[in-house]
Amino acid sequence: MTASRNSAVGEQESAGSTEASKPHKSVKGSKGARPESRPESRLALVRRARRINRELAEVYPYAHPELDFENSFQLLVATVLSAQTTDLRVNQTTPALFAAYPTPEDMAAADPEALEQLIRPTGFFRAKAKSLLGLSAALRDHFGGEVPGRLEDLVTLPGVGRKTANVVLGNAFGVPGLTVDTHFGRLVRRWKWTAQEDPEKVEAEIAALFPKSEWTMLSHRIIFHGRRVCHARKPACGACPIAPLCPAYGEGETDPDKAKKLLKYEMGGQPGQRLRPPSDYPGRPAAPLGAAE
Ligand code: SF4
Repeated sequence: MTASRNSAVGEQESAGSTEASKPHKSVKGSKGARPESRPESRLALVRRARRINRELAEVYPYAHPELDFENSFQLLVATVLSAQTTDLRVNQTTPALFAAYPTPEDMAAADPEALEQLIRPTGFFRAKAKSLLGLSAALRDHFGGEVPGRLEDLVTLPGVGRKTANVVLGNAFGVPGLTVDTHFGRLVRRWKWTAQEDPEKVEAEIAALFPKSEWTMLSHRIIFHGRRVCHARKPACGACPIAPLCPAYGEGETDPDKAKKLLKYEMGGQPGQRLRPPSDYPGRPAAPLGAAE
């Protein structure tokens, strides 16, 4: 660890009384850090990865899927809609959609143009409408109108890939799964848990670092951290609670005050993405579509 790194983390710890940094729980000491030049052994990597997971669990004890849903069908639909847009936009769109088509049978029988208009705010609405009509018909015709609880069945549905299937399995069926989305991939590469770019290879390498029972919550924690602190373009390194464990510290803003201004959602005192967040979520709910955000 460099002197500047120590000092940035120390300043961040001492600034813990501000509103923006309230949810943080900083890593104590610098034992987990390693000199950048020394190659890390497999054992050290596993230990560091698991320590990051433990720290994130303390920072985000309320980590959860950020799509609003009440059953497996709603989660499946919401996850398909979340491609190329924010969970917030999906959450603002799905109340009217689920009111109009509460079951796979209802959605399979939808007028395509009416369906397109309802999901229009999520972008790519023609392709997404096609997927929703196709997957609803497949659920009705091949799975008795129920969402199947097996990966091999889920990936046969139109518009459903491995990532969507893992989201549904992990959050509607309690089957452990890793969700390798853009945040997950970026962060695990920054942390040097893997150098892979291909999501399936990333999934396999990260799966090997953790017990299966951790996979679903690990995914939520990483995605939470990516959305709030470790952003793609300007990570808030100076306000990052796991900075001492991160080989990419310094890729973003290291000044604690400037970094704090980059924090998002509940960590930045802003509304979250869910209109109906879980009761333990410490932030504010998101506003409905059309309301001032
Ligand atoms: S790159 Fe910066 S913000 Fe991201 S985890 Fe590392 S120290 Fe934290």
